[in-house]
Amino acid sequence: MLSEERYNYEGSGMAVMEMSHRSKGYLKIFEEVKADLRKVMNIPENYEIFFMHGGATGQFSAIPLNLLKKKADYIVTGNFAKKAAEEAAKYGEVHLAYNGKEENYKRIPKQEELKLSKDADYVHLCANNTIFGTEWDYIPETNGVPIVADMSSSILSKEIDVSRYGLIYAGAQKNMGISGLAVVIIRKDLIGEAKEYTPVLYRYDLTQKNDSMYNTPSTYSIYVLGKVLKWILNLGGLKEMEQRNALKAKTLYECLDNCDFYTPLAKKDSRSRMNVTFTAPSPELDAEFVKEAAERGLLNLKGHRLIGGIRASIYNAMPQEGVEELVAFMKQFAKEHAL
Ligand code: PMP
Repeated sequence: MLSEERYNYEGSGMAVMEMSHRSKGYLKIFEEVKADLRKVMNIPENYEIFFMHGGATGQFSAIPLNLLKKKADYIVTGNFAKKAAEEAAKYGEVHLAYNGKEENYKRIPKQEELKLSKDADYVHLCANNTIFGTEWDYIPETNGVPIVADMSSSILSKEIDVSRYGLIYAGAQKNMGISGLAVVIIRKDLIGEAKEYTPVLYRYDLTQKNDSMYNTPSTYSIYVLGKVLKWILNLGGLKEMEQRNALKAKTLYECLDNCDFYTPLAKKDSRSRMNVTFTAPSPELDAEFVKEAAERGLLNLKGHRLIGGIRASIYNAMPQEGVEELVAFMKQFAKEHAL
């Protein structure tokens, strides 16, 4: 789809990646992408959409630089949440409202386990923990303290109520297209209190004032996001996406639960619909699984180096058939390597 129009976008004689970000042609694309994102996620008018640089990691810094006046609560449910908390601690007081490290991040805390501060500027959480394969299935009650959510690996995978969040951010490279773009959705009243020394590219007030064009934005990544949004709209929106993802996850977890050979890594009530983590009976068999799977065209199944094992990332772009092929392979592998 992208390759066909690469050299002559809508008869302009130019590829999108050649266009100036200030050209009429590109601005039309840009406005449409923003409008489509608003439509797909049902983003209320009192929220801004920013396209920023530096991936989700850039936001680990930008968030405290813009929002942390005195103190922020961080809920640490995985490695990225931990990194976000460590970065924020450079700029202000960080209180860990929960830390799952001791339990090797295998679950999401219950509401009553969260030690939230009454006077926090915001509560940060990671909606889906990409490495460990856990996902929040509820939005915590924070008594009016804005929730800041890293949705890098779950955005656009289901319907969410944006109005329950102060800020949502995501690196685009999983469910939103390709790398080189961070998307930030922020409630307008939270903008305008950046620390004086905040780098210009990370200031939310300047980003707002310049409509994400203080400098050249990632023009092509934004364009690709637009394509992804049209695809979702054509399929029937996030409701349909959610149903598809639920079925994919159910198919895979059912296979894991019905086969003693594999051990799922996340606790049952905390399972991610996007990243399914498990092990075979030994590290050697994990490696063999990944190798044999690759020979059948089932790729990228190696678990993250922090936890090892096997991880199937079943983002929006993965069809049900892909999951079914994996399940067929898992059954066969278990039979062949049964102890
Ligand atoms: N947060 C989460 C949940 C992630 O999965 C990732 C990347 N895998 C990051 C943050 C870091 O994203 P980036 O590479 O865009 O900085």
